Amino acid sequence: MTTTTPATTLSTTRTEPIAQLFIDGAWRAGSDGGTFPVVDPADGSTIADFAIASREDCLAAVESAALAQTSWAATSPRERSELLRAAYEVLTEEVETLAEIMIRENGKSYRDAIGEANYAKEFFRWFAEEAVRIPGEYRLSPSGDKRIVVDRQPIGVSLLITPWNFPAAMATRKLAPALAAGCTVILKPARETPLAAAFVVDVLRRVGFPPGVVSLVTPVPTGPIVAEMLSHPAVRKLSFTGSTEVGRELLHACADTVVSASMELGGNAPVVVLPGADLELTVRESLLAKMRNGGSACTAANRFYVHSSIHDAFVARMAEELAAVRVGSGLDHDNDLGALVSVRERDKVAGLVDGAVRDGATVVHGGRSWEDGAFYDATLVTGVRHGSAITTTEIFGPVTAVVRYDDVDEAVRMANDTVFGLMAYVFGEEREAVAVARRLEAGMVAINRGVVSDPAAPFGGVKQSGLGREGSSEGILEFLEEQYIALTS
Ligand code: NAD
Repeated sequence: MTTTTPATTLSTTRTEPIAQLFIDGAWRAGSDGGTFPVVDPADGSTIADFAIASREDCLAAVESAALAQTSWAATSPRERSELLRAAYEVLTEEVETLAEIMIRENGKSYRDAIGEANYAKEFFRWFAEEAVRIPGEYRLSPSGDKRIVVDRQPIGVSLLITPWNFPAAMATRKLAPALAAGCTVILKPARETPLAAAFVVDVLRRVGFPPGVVSLVTPVPTGPIVAEMLSHPAVRKLSFTGSTEVGRELLHACADTVVSASMELGGNAPVVVLPGADLELTVRESLLAKMRNGGSACTAANRFYVHSSIHDAFVARMAEELAAVRVGSGLDHDNDLGALVSVRERDKVAGLVDGAVRDGATVVHGGRSWEDGAFYDATLVTGVRHGSAITTTEIFGPVTAVVRYDDVDEAVRMANDTVFGLMAYVFGEEREAVAVARRLEAGMVAINRGVVSDPAAPFGGVKQSGLGREGSSEGILEFLEEQYIALTS
């Protein structure tokens, strides 16, 4: 079913985004002169024509990073810290501009865009503080006559690949720890959303990061050029955020030259609502877990397992709340839910809802694609069968899918019945909820809370949701390697 998008109030002024490659300290067109369009999913218009990076451009970025690596690694932690802090200060001044870029290239609501811009800048502040606290160790050997010094060195040139759903925060979550550690970096943003990444890289240029320390490329075709970059002897690290499918492919590519890989991959977060859950708190936080970023989040609540004793009340309250959600362009700051990143993504979400209905589920609210723009209603589906595609696939859209259960052990079994293990949510009396949390196979579990993202927390998954952690003190370790120095005394 389709409906027409209502008119929106376009309230912000337009800024011209940077749409070029950043190599060796300068913005430039691609050497082949080609571009690809960056499209506003809210109205289908082209916002910018972004430079395509040729194979030669990408290898030039690697060479300039390799050349800058030794001198960057030799800078003092304080110097790196102060540059990152300066980037934080500039982004703080310019969050509105960054937010507007993300509204336009990604379709975010204003609230999501400004929320992400603020979250993104915090990684610069956090890792400015971590840069001067890189830990080392001094140990005595068991024989008592030898000394062991464990030093930490920057791992080297790092390739950072980011997805479209959080175009700024996924970039800063990698850029900040890599730069703090003393690594030079090449950022490859998603084709859908390169403008926010270019804006962030320009902030790094403006505050004085030296040429070669940071580059940005958008290779086409992606796979073969990235594989060639990974096989360059100078590249020692891949930090990837994206789908499990692409992550798996990149792990194979890393194997050839034994490149260290950190992987933040897909999720399929279960929400377990226990019999003792506080209804109002559960609804309020579930809305955040589900609707933040329009559901296009790796941590988004994907499947709600709700105990029979609270099921009907939960469904009724969620339906009420979802009915109040205003859908439309993020340029109207009053809208709650923006567009999906593309019509293709919207149709994927619609297909999952249609599939659930064929499997016996009922659409209680929403369930409609919009005719103009890649919008999809805030949607509630009940009577979902565990095992239906909507419970096994990342929905990545504003759809709450509810499965009723009677037995907590069965809810835990269903929650863990997935190859993913990124995020899980539990609502209930705290002691009982913690006991359930400990049985869940997930890198992160939120108890009676709908949002967990925090620069100070180790973000990451188990099973096929990833390898390694981002943020926190763990995040910088991904870009450092131990060196053992043996002393005799
Ligand atoms: P994607 O895997 O399609 O793309 C991610 C990045 O990889 C993009 O920059 C893309 O251009 C690039 N890419 C695609 N094919 C490639 C190849 N063959 N070689 C090298 N690079 C390639 O993911 P997406 O659709 O942009 O993002 C959505 C996915 O990201 C979801 O699965 C989501 O769960 C995941 N994600 C995970 C986290 C996390 O922290 N775990 C955070 C955000 C998003």
